Amino acid sequence: MANSEIRSSIRNHLKELRSQVSSNHKQSFSLDRVLFTEQRTGYLHGKIVDRLVLFLRGTGCTHAIENGGCTFCGFYNATNLGEKIEDKDYIEQLTNTIETFNGTFDQFPIVCLYNDGSLLNEREISFNAVMQMFGILNGQQGIQKIVIESKIEDINEQQLKKLISITDKEIEIAVGFESSNPLIRDLCINKSFDNKVFERKWRIAQQYNVSIVPILMLKPPFLTEREAVLDYIESLKYLEPFHLTKIDLELPTVESHTLVHDLWKNGQYRSAWFWSLLEILRSREEMGLTTRLFIGPPSYSVSSIAHTGNCEKCDQQFLHAIHHYNCYGELSRFEEITCSCKKKWAEEYYAEEKEDLLTRIKGMMAEIKFAQHRNERSQEQQMNAKATL
Ligand code: SF4
Ligand SMILES: [Zn+2]
Repeated sequence: MANSEIRSSIRNHLKELRSQVSSNHKQSFSLDRVLFTEQRTGYLHGKIVDRLVLFLRGTGCTHAIENGGCTFCGFYNATNLGEKIEDKDYIEQLTNTIETFNGTFDQFPIVCLYNDGSLLNEREISFNAVMQMFGILNGQQGIQKIVIESKIEDINEQQLKKLISITDKEIEIAVGFESSNPLIRDLCINKSFDNKVFERKWRIAQQYNVSIVPILMLKPPFLTEREAVLDYIESLKYLEPFHLTKIDLELPTVESHTLVHDLWKNGQYRSAWFWSLLEILRSREEMGLTTRLFIGPPSYSVSSIAHTGNCEKCDQQFLHAIHHYNCYGELSRFEEITCSCKKKWAEEYYAEEKEDLLTRIKGMMAEIKFAQHRNERSQEQQMNAKATL
């Protein structure tokens, strides 16, 4: 099976999963309200500041609609399932949120607008609406930086030119970079852009003083724990010469209607261990990588079925150590943690993997299909049994 066939089988499976998302949830939300807001830690000019994230109700990611989306991403479940949200609704999502803060909205030096997709994709949100939102945020005095998320392919010079003309705030664009290894990005994540695309878009953004922040999800499916760590380190090395303000490390979760969920149900995926995260943090220090790495909280716009972690005894300590690391870039709190679960992690981490990646992906996809078929048959049998009662 060539890569293109594997890619098609992954995409078809993902598209099927997206089509199963029930549209019933659309009755439960109003298009002029954000999903929720969250206060998080942010960095500005080397200082720790408060940042406010607005999880906008989005139209739905075009990549999810056209290609099934990324293997781990369940954000589509929280969107308007591809039905385009009107400009006035998007703008009201922002103005209504500002109102709920009773005059304190601009106490956040950084405001992030996330739409569970790409803010620079006209099919998800008109650029006119983005411009109007930037205009509104520009009128909020205390805000110093506006952060949006976009697919790297959607960034274009014309739009950047217009965005910097409407605001004097700093602009940052978070992009899903995932891995510098094209095969892993393509087949384990289902993002098929080339590193050259990233380089080109980064150059354009630089011309306009817009920061690009790559997001890399730890441990994509199909990789062993150790492969995931090594790939992460390679990706950090690749990104180092770009002198980025920071790189965002996302901790994986298992979300419904995703390929990762199907693999997890089949016992073929476990979210990363915190011990693996520590391996990455230690390696980047040993290699003298200086681009700041920020570890995002595993809290997204959709709830998770499973998430990154070790065991009940040490998870809280790791979460505290992550917070400390994000604030001061120090490993000291991690180094204080000891727990018996490390032995189990090490067994998994150093286990030999005999199959190459392509063979493994093919095998796992076949097993998912088999499990799906088995479930369908058993459901059918149960229904037949009920009918004959
Ligand atoms: S991670 Fe981003 S690009 Fe990928 S499916 Fe989710 S919203 Fe779309
Ligand atoms: Zn533990």
